[in-house]
Amino acid sequence: MNYNTRLIQGIPVEENPYQAIVPPIFLATTYKQDNFEQPNESGIVYGRGGNPTRNQLEKLVAQLENGVAAQAAASGMAALASVVQLVKPGETILTQGNIYGGTFDLLEDLKEHGIQVIYHENLNRLEKSDFTPDVKLVLIESPSNPSLQVTDIQKIAVLAHEQESLVAVDNTFLTSYLQKPLDLGADIVIYSATKYLSGHADVIAGLTVVKDTGLAEKLAHIQHTFGGILSPFDSYSLIRGIKTLSVRFDRQIENTKELIRFIEEKGFTTYFPGSAPEQKEIQARQAKDIGALFSFELPEAYDLQTFLSGLKIFAFAPSLGGVESLIGTPATTSHRSFTPEQRAHFGISDRLIRVAVGIEDIADLRDDLEKALENSRKE
Ligand SMILES: *Cc1c(COP(=O)(O)O)cnc(C)c1O
Repeated sequence: MNYNTRLIQGIPVEENPYQAIVPPIFLATTYKQDNFEQPNESGIVYGRGGNPTRNQLEKLVAQLENGVAAQAAASGMAALASVVQLVKPGETILTQGNIYGGTFDLLEDLKEHGIQVIYHENLNRLEKSDFTPDVKLVLIESPSNPSLQVTDIQKIAVLAHEQESLVAVDNTFLTSYLQKPLDLGADIVIYSATKYLSGHADVIAGLTVVKDTGLAEKLAHIQHTFGGILSPFDSYSLIRGIKTLSVRFDRQIENTKELIRFIEEKGFTTYFPGSAPEQKEIQARQAKDIGALFSFELPEAYDLQTFLSGLKIFAFAPSLGGVESLIGTPATTSHRSFTPEQRAHFGISDRLIRVAVGIEDIADLRDDLEKALENSRKE
């Protein structure tokens, strides 16, 4: 079955009660056992450990990533928090400075628990000597937020595995439709499913996916004990959202390319996956397309607040991945917990505008930006 079919038919209808075309939402928290020693044949006993709706979502997602198992979490942060629990005090996480603000906050907190975190400006420059024996996890976000830097997943995986370090990739921005980190050698894929997988800005959810059964057991244990599970209703909503992932993304990518062209014609600097010349080849090799997120520098000749207030279609709001187009300034939203020095170091200027492109008509999106730019031009 090809990917686009798997999005919809990945879980056979025959597995649904009554062969219902869409799965039911199982709300039950507890399940009758066959006897005092054994669960019933479904294997499900208690809703935190397993739920039929959540299990179905996990099975579908594992399939889409070419993995063996997935764990659905209450949020992307809960998924990230479960992965970092694989690292023990005294051990080290290698990651990038240019990373989602919430992930940065989580990693900073880990330092209080005796875990060392090293932020690299560019993971592509990692060498064998960076993998000291204490390095247990490399956490990659590719492309990264908000400057869309691309990391060579294959290269890092080879280096990391020589030192028996795990490689986790936050694949939120591209999804398995455009990039499959497990196939590229990564051990763990992490998602904020709140974004493109859900696609409708109405579910907060996270996922981890792995291809090794031992690692799957460890993460299942963490999910069970940590308890940050996804609810049955949100699991259902995510199964529903995933069905339209590729059709939504196709339109979003088309719109994104048009808008990048439009902004570049104005002579503004744009950032998108592979826009840095040295990352173009990596992006082309490891991903099918650029996704639907880009950023640009608003020149000083335009008033930032007037520009943002002048937009009628783009909403100034955090988040991304929904069918609605959103716009934001990372310096005051997702990356406000960075110090001004850190922001400057990782290229997050106060005039950096991040655009999360939706599926609206491209002519309306272009007009909206055009008018807001015209109105905000300083004399
Ligand atoms: C949004 C986001 C997260 C956090 O996910 P939540 O679902 O909001 O908890 C993590 N990583 C990336 C890249 C994100 O965009």
